[in-house]
Amino acid sequence: EKYRYWETREVKTTCAYCGVGCQMKLLVKENKVVEILPDKGAANEGLLCVKGRFAHDFIGHPDRLTTPLIRRNGTLEPASWEEALNLVTEKIQTIRQEHGADAIAGFSSARVTNEENYLMNKLMRGAIGTNNIDHCARLCHASTVAGLATTLGSGAMTNPMADVKNAEVIFITGSNTTEAHPVMGAYVRQARKAGSKLIVADPREIELAEEADLFLKIRPGSSVALSNAMIHVILQEKLENKTFIEEHTEDVDQLIAAVAECTPEWAETVTGVPAETIRQAARMYADSHASSIIYSMGITQHVNGTENVMSLSNLALVTGNLGKPGAGVNPLRGQNNVQGACDMGALPNVMPAYQPVNSPETIARFKEAWGVALPQSPGLTVTQAIPAAAEGSVKMLYVMGENPMISDPDTHHVKEGLEKAFLVVQDIFLTETGQLADVVLPAAVFAEKEGTFTNTERRVQRVRQAVMAPGEARPDWWILMQLLNRLGLESSYKGPKDIFEEIRRVAPSYAGISYDRIEEEGLCWPCPAESHGGTPILHVGKIARGAGLFKPVQWQPSPELGQEAYPDIMTTGRILYHFHTRTMTAKSPGIEAIAPENYVEIHPEMASAKGIQEGDLVAIASPRGEIRVKARITDRVDAQVVFVPFHWSEGANVLTNGEVLDPYCKIPGFKVTGVNVEKTGDL
Ligand code: SF4
Repeated sequence: EKYRYWETREVKTTCAYCGVGCQMKLLVKENKVVEILPDKGAANEGLLCVKGRFAHDFIGHPDRLTTPLIRRNGTLEPASWEEALNLVTEKIQTIRQEHGADAIAGFSSARVTNEENYLMNKLMRGAIGTNNIDHCARLCHASTVAGLATTLGSGAMTNPMADVKNAEVIFITGSNTTEAHPVMGAYVRQARKAGSKLIVADPREIELAEEADLFLKIRPGSSVALSNAMIHVILQEKLENKTFIEEHTEDVDQLIAAVAECTPEWAETVTGVPAETIRQAARMYADSHASSIIYSMGITQHVNGTENVMSLSNLALVTGNLGKPGAGVNPLRGQNNVQGACDMGALPNVMPAYQPVNSPETIARFKEAWGVALPQSPGLTVTQAIPAAAEGSVKMLYVMGENPMISDPDTHHVKEGLEKAFLVVQDIFLTETGQLADVVLPAAVFAEKEGTFTNTERRVQRVRQAVMAPGEARPDWWILMQLLNRLGLESSYKGPKDIFEEIRRVAPSYAGISYDRIEEEGLCWPCPAESHGGTPILHVGKIARGAGLFKPVQWQPSPELGQEAYPDIMTTGRILYHFHTRTMTAKSPGIEAIAPENYVEIHPEMASAKGIQEGDLVAIASPRGEIRVKARITDRVDAQVVFVPFHWSEGANVLTNGEVLDPYCKIPGFKVTGVNVEKTGDL
């Protein structure tokens, strides 16, 4: 877009892509964002990645939804807001009357603001009367929330991102940091250049593996074995932090017993990493003043994801790497506001600020705030609600800003659930999920509304309106407020600021944060009072739980392994250029030119055994279905493992297993799928 600088105005806001939460300036000419420039903020220190800087064509894209749609005689047709909202209200009322409130489930969104997540929570729980509210954190960091809340008392990143530059040793496991969280990746590189040591454990030779002091190419699904063996070495060589263990932890005896047999030699047979390398990694991690653990989906997206997380927590606790600069257990949250969506109670078992739905104090606090009685038994997760819709007990799904047709496991089964229920989709484009809807509600993008996002380091930052939404599209908070009013929970918020003021009153960790205080720079929760400066580092002086809990965990092989008909292992992940289900990035011609289509990475050994050459069409099958993608031959992956990015439709999630879930938090095992890979000639 051509423009002269003097024709534009600048609007400072927060990036709507990943959880880093970069600060940026939108240059606006008339009603169009013509360019995005970096701005200085504590999270990004003036940096932006390719997505934040260039992938903004989606904002005023001609394909945006500009009017509500209602399905009539099988076709989605334009409708007025009045018609669409009345129809949704009537459906809610009828289904609730006939089948009870629990026959309705709502998916909130990691893409929208805190204020909007809060209202979705109020709609589902306060106005409809069910705890069936969840969002895509179920598919990414539900295991973090469950694991770290149990062991440390807080299920969030312990240290700010830029603090990694204070680490003497950085241990990155299951995070392709430079591609999925590019600015965080830049901090790791800066730390590395300044002398920090780097250990990388990953099934793929990711970019940072090339710069690592130690690279451990582990087999998918073997992380618990690696952590336990590292702890075994630490204890055997007396590298543990005895004072920290004594003063700040409990149940160390259980940990000692659990890792007694986990020798590096045993771990070598499970992980594929030489025992001596495991020893070196353990020594390097333990023998430092401050070691930081950074992890992401490679740890969490497993059927034992929660135990993976607990095993990393054990590693940090046994070496005293918590509550100080350069240390910590640092889950990198994927989406711009996935942290905030969790904080706002878009989870079936907790209200805003993680207050359990069944605690008498929570019930009393929200009864006073909202004036209604609340449901008290935990609701369905995303991974339970969609199968329940397929089987018929959930009759209505309200999906705000999510695209389960691509993001959820076992696409064919997902489709069955979405088709069977009465489906309401609130989004910015007619996504693969929207195409199946009965009612579509057109929403505004981040640049068209006010509010806040909370980034991966718990920093609450402002989102500001730069342009008007196209046509009849409206901010999600406005849409939700109309429904609250129609369902009898009268709400007259003038804007997101009013909603945030209500959040402060009911969410103790946000109580001290106000729009005025975060005008220039965000604040990290917990921030209990206006006089409090926020908490960039958790667990300083005292673990939030009181004492850090050692949770003994044991490695179990993934149930996906060892199937005769599906002997290869598929792992999934992200690439730098696309974001999640491509709803936004696919609208940028520049991005599409670089990354236009799906592919599979195959090791040269597997390729030659199966007669596959670069660019050949490959059929990948699992018990759930089959996909066809082009081969890229590379030794980044192991000989038994193939990698498929999950961004494209008819892609990786056609194959993944949605039935076997982590017992603690119900996350699926996206990272290990038994498949059969074959060369094929046809599309
Ligand atoms: Fe946006 Fe994340 Fe890139 Fe920053 S690192 S510009 S938040 S996508």
